[in-house]
Amino acid sequence: MSTVAARLQFVLNELRLPTVKRLWATLADQSNKEGWMAERFLAAVMEHELAERDTRRLERHRIESQLLPGKLLSNFDFTAVPTVSKAHVTALTEGDGWIEQGANLLLFGPPGVGKSHLVCAIGNGLIDRGYRVYFTRTSDLVQRLQVARREMRLSAEIARLDRFDLLILDDLSYVRRDQAETSVLFELITERYERKSLALTANQPFSGWDQVFPDAAMTLAAVDRLVHHSTIFELNVESYRRRVAARSGLLKTKFVGILDPNDPVTSTSVPGDRNDVGEDATPLGNVGGARGDTAVPLRSTEASPRKKEQTKATSKAKPLLHSNATN
Ligand code: ADP
Ligand code: MG
Repeated sequence: MSTVAARLQFVLNELRLPTVKRLWATLADQSNKEGWMAERFLAAVMEHELAERDTRRLERHRIESQLLPGKLLSNFDFTAVPTVSKAHVTALTEGDGWIEQGANLLLFGPPGVGKSHLVCAIGNGLIDRGYRVYFTRTSDLVQRLQVARREMRLSAEIARLDRFDLLILDDLSYVRRDQAETSVLFELITERYERKSLALTANQPFSGWDQVFPDAAMTLAAVDRLVHHSTIFELNVESYRRRVAARSGLLKTKFVGILDPNDPVTSTSVPGDRNDVGEDATPLGNVGGARGDTAVPLRSTEASPRKKEQTKATSKAKPLLHSNATN
């Protein structure tokens, strides 16, 4: 190796330019053979460095996101959930302004209908566009925040989550206030309100959330903040797992006798689903306002291209939460 080449290896290590280090010799050969101007050679090596840097960054973001592997839009069957439009979901994966506004995404439906799949697919799409996403089970995050609170660093821990443009809290309904001090969750929602986006999946619509937060006032204040700028998807269909199993004949051979079509729980779930809450597939839409005891219409997505449709869809739904608590 020439002295210049040896020196270059050292400099490129120091500057952390691994792609230039790997490619410069080949590109220099080509440049010498084809008589490139010096600036063309320099631009070529630097472009390669930039492109690989982007790829590495996306890869890092995908790993840190903890998104469920393989849950992509390309393998999500939209025909199984007629209430969810592919065009709307695709718009969400492009960010289309909602992430910058700190707007939220709420997905409701019984177990097995594709909530986690869909929210991970949206997360993956956002990562492709350079956003940072973090997926966690809500109960895991609640535990983590409780530890932080005990150690007097709750604000710092919540602030650390600010680096994620979208924080996905999966399975909110599995959190129970008696298991844990869930006001940390409320603090997180309040901190991110109108700044940083949250996506949330839950088996139960808002009516069941008073099981999650310590009291009705806090539940109402949390719901109020979450829905203020939000897109809501209701996936009130039959469990995809169960449909697939039924198609392959598994239900007949394996589960016969376990699933009772008259039983509200087993008829919407398959063995293996945790905490099945089949009866909670109530239509969503009107939420008791935090400022009075009458139900007020849900303020549906501001950033969403389907705002009109959503407003229409929600207007016929029954009120789910009533309280005269205030925030
Ligand atoms: P949920 O979070 O609503 O309980 P999941 O997202 O975990 O449901 O879905 C259960 C399984 O079924 C997963 O393996 C998921 O990939 C698959 N699945 C659910 N809905 C669909 C769909 N519409 N298209 C493709 N796969 C789906
Ligand atoms: Mg899920």
